[in-house]
Amino acid sequence: MPATRSALSYDVFVAPEKPFAAPPPAVGDAPAWDPTTSTLIFGARDAVLVDPLMTTREATALADWVALHDRRLTTVSIPHGHGDFYLGLPVVLDRFPDARAVATTRTVRHMQQPGTQALDNSLRARFPGQIADTIPLPEPLESPEIQLEGSAIEVIETGHTDTLDTTSLHVPDLGLVVSGDVVYNHCHMYVGATTTDSRAEWIAALDRLAALNPAVVSGHKDPTQGNPPAVLADSRGYLEYYGQLRQAGLPDQELFDAMVSRYPGWVSRQQWLMLEAVG
Ligand SMILES: [Zn+2]
Repeated sequence: MPATRSALSYDVFVAPEKPFAAPPPAVGDAPAWDPTTSTLIFGARDAVLVDPLMTTREATALADWVALHDRRLTTVSIPHGHGDFYLGLPVVLDRFPDARAVATTRTVRHMQQPGTQALDNSLRARFPGQIADTIPLPEPLESPEIQLEGSAIEVIETGHTDTLDTTSLHVPDLGLVVSGDVVYNHCHMYVGATTTDSRAEWIAALDRLAALNPAVVSGHKDPTQGNPPAVLADSRGYLEYYGQLRQAGLPDQELFDAMVSRYPGWVSRQQWLMLEAVG
């Protein structure tokens, strides 16, 4: 007998923008990490958490927030191999030791690469004492879905978007996509490390998600915004415009100014997001 299906719900935690120590940038705001979301999808008894966040402080606050929902946390899903989406994992697993951390085989492999580990260490330098020394690896998913009380949450492999081997989750019962960094919501996007090819792949991923016409919880967002489907087209437009400016050979300063004036209300006017090709 299959487990009884119950109606699912979701709730979103947004870790506020946090400043970090770095030399003053040539353009944009003082160095800070963009606001990052974590999403709890839950039924009557059980819950799945997408993204355990990065610093000890925010992962601790996240674990408190998860506990308020009074569900059994069965799964922590890691959407891609960027540290802001998994470095808080030991804090969350410490609090919910029965939960199982999962990611696709490709994402697990990406997390193990020397370049990824080097990026993790650069984050430890940016947030001293705020990131655990050792991070447990998630288990590779055997099939592209996560079960929650008889409903399947689909894992969509979105390829090279803001990094390699990214994923989004689709919750058909909720008409919801939890996009990871495939979609940004009124927040400047991490395009500094993109190429013409990777932007084309990223746009194709956005089109695949748009075909589902979902509500979207993006990985980074302006906390005052909701989760409408329109963010898919917004992110697509941002990538296209950025690509046009790059193709036109605009110097960095002019490119930055052009993006900020095209998207005046977007948060995180950060040089490192737009211009630094770090990975
Ligand atoms: Zn990312």
